[in-house]
Amino acid sequence: MTMTLKDWQARAAALVPETRMFIDGKFVDAASGAKFETINPANGQVVAAVARGSAEDVDRAVAAAKKAFKSGVWSRMEPTARMAVMSRFADLIEAHAEDFALLDTLDMGKPISDMFNIDIPGSLMTIRFFAEVIDKMEGVVTNTNADALHYILRQPLGVCGLVVPWNYPLMMAAWKIAPALSVGNSIVLKPAEQSPLSALLLAKLFSEAGGPDGVFNVVTGFGEDTGKPLALHMDVDKIGFTGSGEVGKLMMIYAGQSNMKRVSTECGGKSPQIVLADCEDLAKAAATGVAGIYGNQGEVCSAGSRILVERAVYDEYIALFTEAANDMHIPGDPLDPDTTMGPLVTPEQQSRVLGYIEAGRKEGAKLAFGGNVPAQFNAGCFVEPTLFTDVSNKMKIAQEEIFGPVASIIPVDNLDHAIETANDTIYGLAAAIWTSNVKNAHRFARDVEAGIVWVNAYEAGDATTPWGGFKQSGNGRDKCLEALTQYTQTKSVWIELS
Ligand code: NAD
Repeated sequence: MTMTLKDWQARAAALVPETRMFIDGKFVDAASGAKFETINPANGQVVAAVARGSAEDVDRAVAAAKKAFKSGVWSRMEPTARMAVMSRFADLIEAHAEDFALLDTLDMGKPISDMFNIDIPGSLMTIRFFAEVIDKMEGVVTNTNADALHYILRQPLGVCGLVVPWNYPLMMAAWKIAPALSVGNSIVLKPAEQSPLSALLLAKLFSEAGGPDGVFNVVTGFGEDTGKPLALHMDVDKIGFTGSGEVGKLMMIYAGQSNMKRVSTECGGKSPQIVLADCEDLAKAAATGVAGIYGNQGEVCSAGSRILVERAVYDEYIALFTEAANDMHIPGDPLDPDTTMGPLVTPEQQSRVLGYIEAGRKEGAKLAFGGNVPAQFNAGCFVEPTLFTDVSNKMKIAQEEIFGPVASIIPVDNLDHAIETANDTIYGLAAAIWTSNVKNAHRFARDVEAGIVWVNAYEAGDATTPWGGFKQSGNGRDKCLEALTQYTQTKSVWIELS
């Protein structure tokens, strides 16, 4: 990226984003005409006034999606033709990378360099992965009775409601829309109210890539006004949800109250990073630990927020972690390509995180650094990278998802103690261990209650690696071929030959 802060500021000043919803191939205002404002958390300024959807808009979007699905215009399109649309769609996203970077950074405060290093490549990789599998999916002929032919067809579900959060607006949308669309479903995407703009550009580009009208719809607005009617809708066949556990549970209730639609959930976490005394490279473990908790301002479902360190290397690890944090995560204007840490998404999220820091202090954890709003950035929703040491796993800061730049270091006696502590949480999204002993690595991988496990790494992966949790981190799997099973259903076909 060759652009400077000044270049981005000029682009931001000239920005006129699309703010209407996208239904049946057209941008439309909310039926009520209502709007809501998205605010730049770096400076409190209004980014745009966006159409505020309601149940009426959800009805319009679902009707368009259903009509498109039933017509077969996408669901029965030649696989190679569907592949061509999805691949052009990815190319168009790549061509608009700067627009996406600007929209997400202004909406939710992410450092703009993260958009180019993480969000955009991660989104493109996922869309291209699912585009490529379209004509490679096969059904199954089972080895049944000789007087019968039995096969299993895998078919799209119909209308998928995709409800996503604000922490990676483009990438979380891409992880849902790519598998849902590639197998032939129609979709209604509901972006978070804090970050609606990139979803609107996505829908426009799908259409420009040749995606038929009604296949990709976007309804913008608040969760209660739009996400809820979508999840309660009798013509929606599936909800793919990423967000908090609280709303994930509501999605399951809404499905039960309506048409038993399928629900997959990707929710929060309190992910442990274990550091054993036999770790070969403690400095690397510390630097990776810093990135694992402070990256994206700590607003990451898999943030490695609990760091469990064996006592023999406890003090050394804390010193290395502190040094790495000083070098790596400095708050700044998220439009500055050199910034590595932006503001939190909203003033509410900022107060929530500061509330947890206060709770940590009151519960007796030792504040090693941070804990404040950085003085030079008090116009935005910034919080300093913060570290608590001598944390007990029973403390609120060790049990609840903070979703901010707050790390807790917890001393542990040995591997067994570490695994027991790691599993002592309602969550089970990700977990990591730093060790040079292969037995310790495998024992940890076997016994830790988490959907994603790293050994001597953190946040590593690609489109082939399943993303999803155990326990209250949810039941879905994003990316990976398994995701396709969540957007299809099987049909058993028996043909009598006798
Ligand atoms: P959230 O649950 O508040 O909102 C998520 C989405 O649900 C938004 O679009 C919101 O408008 C909608 N929503 C809110 N209330 C609703 C309701 N009553 N009915 C229907 N829809 C409703 O979550 P958030 O604050 O946007 O995101 C942060 C959470 O997302 C964190 O808990 C984080 O861990 C989780 N997350 C998980 C993953 C994962 O892959 N496991 C990835 C990213 C974020």
